[in-house]
Amino acid sequence: MTAPLLDVAGLDVRYGPSQALFGVSVAVEPGSVLAVLGVNGAGKSTFARAVSGLVAPAAGRITFDGQDITGLPAHRIRRLGLTYIPEGRGIFPGLSVTDNLRMAVAQEPRNVRAAAIDRAIEQFPILGNRPAQRAGSLSGGEQQMLALARAFAVSPKLIIADELSLGLAPAVTESVFQSLDEARRSGITVVLSEQFVHRALAMADSCVILTRGRVGWAGPATDAGREVLDRYLGEAEHPRPTVAAGAGD
Ligand code: ATP
Repeated sequence: MTAPLLDVAGLDVRYGPSQALFGVSVAVEPGSVLAVLGVNGAGKSTFARAVSGLVAPAAGRITFDGQDITGLPAHRIRRLGLTYIPEGRGIFPGLSVTDNLRMAVAQEPRNVRAAAIDRAIEQFPILGNRPAQRAGSLSGGEQQMLALARAFAVSPKLIIADELSLGLAPAVTESVFQSLDEARRSGITVVLSEQFVHRALAMADSCVILTRGRVGWAGPATDAGREVLDRYLGEAEHPRPTVAAGAGD
């Protein structure tokens, strides 16, 4: 068996006096996709923030690509190849598309920056059509493409994406998932927390369901059937896919 790319062991996270994660252990194989599921407040965002260095663990150990990254600041973790796309996209709405991409690669060596931006735009040609447009005036779907392009531009080993499809229309959500699928096919490991449970599971190799800050269930995505989802998420949290018309974006 290969060593996990990301290995989280016994992770506790506290916000002041309240504890959000309790002994969470998760291993992610290189090149695989992990879906992190859970009802609102279960701790999905906290997990993503802790792994990417934005909140410090109170206990536990996080290993990435063979290195102990527990307690490292976010910029150092990012430089090791772990890129976080926060809920709400993490783009600079007041800056142009090109400047958003420039900011993303600002830490890269000077001589590779232009090529990194070109590569990102190649993956999302829609962005290449409007380099000077203010990011905040793009549609929701285009903003999410920009967030992904920013992530891809740094050639990450692992992307951890928090509620990437939040607020997007179903067709746009589908293209976001397709981009993630392409990322995976190019060898990038993906950890995604998602409200579209069935879509996330269709893409995932493995799944972790958080319940009140603890791992309630973990296993292969194909084993996360109706019984498991009903038990840990409730029907309201994983409505069967319907043909939705004209929602969101
Ligand atoms: P959602 O789907 O609503 O984003 P989540 O599963 O991502 O939920 P978290 O946002 O990680 O859950 O929240 C886990 C717990 O930590 C919740 O009880 C939440 O109220 C608490 N929490 C999250 N962020 C903070 C914070 N900055 N300060 C204090 N408590 C927080």
